[in-house]
Amino acid sequence: MSTGSPPVHVVVVGAGITGLACAHRLLTLDPTIKVTLLEASDRIGGLIRTTPFAGLPAVDEAADAFLLRVPSARDLAHAVGLGDVLTSPAVAQASVWRGRLHPLPESLLLGVPTRLAPLGRSRLLSARGKIRAGLEPLVPRTSIDNDCLGAYMRKRLGNEVHEMLIDPLVGSIYAADTDNFSLRGMPQLSELATEGRSLIISARKRPKPAAHGTETPVFAAPIGGMQQLVDATLDAVTRLGATVLTNERVTSVERTATGVVVQTSSGSHHCDHVVLAGPARHTGEWLAATAPNAGRLLREWEHASVVMVTLAVPKRSLPRAAVGSGYLVPKPVQRFVTAVSFASQKWAHLDSDSTAVLRVSLGRDGMPLHHHSDDELQSFTLADLKMHLGVDLNPSAVRVTRWVESFPQYRPQHFDRVAHVEAHLAVELPTAHLAGASYRGIGIPACIQQANDVAMRIIDEISAR
Ligand SMILES: Cc1cc2nc3c(=O)[nH]c(=O)nc-3n(C[C@H](O)[C@H](O)[C@H](O)COP(=O)(O)OP(=O)(O)OC[C@H]3O[C@@H](n4cnc5c(N)ncnc54)[C@H](O)[C@@H]3O)c2cc1C
Repeated sequence: MSTGSPPVHVVVVGAGITGLACAHRLLTLDPTIKVTLLEASDRIGGLIRTTPFAGLPAVDEAADAFLLRVPSARDLAHAVGLGDVLTSPAVAQASVWRGRLHPLPESLLLGVPTRLAPLGRSRLLSARGKIRAGLEPLVPRTSIDNDCLGAYMRKRLGNEVHEMLIDPLVGSIYAADTDNFSLRGMPQLSELATEGRSLIISARKRPKPAAHGTETPVFAAPIGGMQQLVDATLDAVTRLGATVLTNERVTSVERTATGVVVQTSSGSHHCDHVVLAGPARHTGEWLAATAPNAGRLLREWEHASVVMVTLAVPKRSLPRAAVGSGYLVPKPVQRFVTAVSFASQKWAHLDSDSTAVLRVSLGRDGMPLHHHSDDELQSFTLADLKMHLGVDLNPSAVRVTRWVESFPQYRPQHFDRVAHVEAHLAVELPTAHLAGASYRGIGIPACIQQANDVAMRIIDEISAR
């Protein structure tokens, strides 16, 4: 920016982790930029929320960990001063419920067996399912053109491996039905699918996982819960000079002769660039007038809703089988519950002598539950847990959190759709930028990575002027 000219103004819409991270990266790269963050609700953090529960100061109501493989979340945590409070799960072993709890076989890559011996020993699959999976190296090449994860995996590894391993593991990340989900939406799996004809042979060529007990942590979280990352990032962006406005609902984003005007429920904000970091469907509505083609495609995005029920139960009431970090419930045997996290076993700081904390996920794409009352959701949860664990749990505390339309669904050809939207936007509103869970990965690291990329692009565009 030349001396004397007004500062470049960037408005970021949506103060979830994406919007916050984008504001942080913009101001770190260029402290002279004016950044305004607009949030419709009365709180910051979007889908991240941590609150006290059952005498514990901080129990997450949604995300409770981020992956370390993509370093952006860990890097942000360090940049905002949380390096010393990051912790990792105390246990990694998870199970799958099929009549009883079965430990996940070793050597899986998102459910794809990288070695057949552990699969052979597991009692989760029938003999027929194991034989079918073992034949995968002989199956002729499978086209990936239709980009459907379920169809691809069923053809390669058979229905049982898909339904008992891949769908529960991938489905639980995206609240998805993987029979209607993009293969490319899971880059680790699509890379494997494009590397060679056989998934198992390609997976075998990967470096061997570390021996049991010597693994480096896969996940991390601030000890005060994921809200601590939000709060520390908010503090940092405020210190760096950002203006953060809550209860400021964006209604439209329009092009002007000199830039962009963002209309809100209480006024308007003129800016040079706008970062659209809210859910795609809402973004499509804001763009309806100015970017009709991009807006129309965005309004077609589908989102799944889930419910998180948190329970405090007497530790002694849990059966001996309830070991490890938790378990997944495969689609063919689901009623309401899709996954259970034994949160106080997973996180040492949530553990106590007498009480166990469970975080139970209900609902997914194709299983809407929001028409049920909290009392009904609680009784469905307890009935499902009784079926899974064989015991009546008498919770001393229950918390029901509804996450409506929280999981964008990456339908087959998702990334082509994102590319089309961005191509339209480049013509219709070139200084608008998309980032967040709806586009290039739903996990917190992927959201932060998108935020960083958009911030860098804006800086490049500013310097090229
Ligand atoms: C139950 C659950 C569990 C999860 N678990 C994990 C996990 O363990 N690990 C992990 O990595 N990820 C997890 N995720 C995913 C991850 O938390 C989210 O994908 C991520 O937080 C999304 O961030 P975002 O900023 O892109 O979107 P959001 O958090 O949705 O933020 C968008 C913001 O935009 C605001 N907004 C919407 N409309 C307007 C408007 N008109 N004007 C202004 N603002 C508006 C919203 O209020 C919101 O604050 C989980 C998600 C859920 C729901």
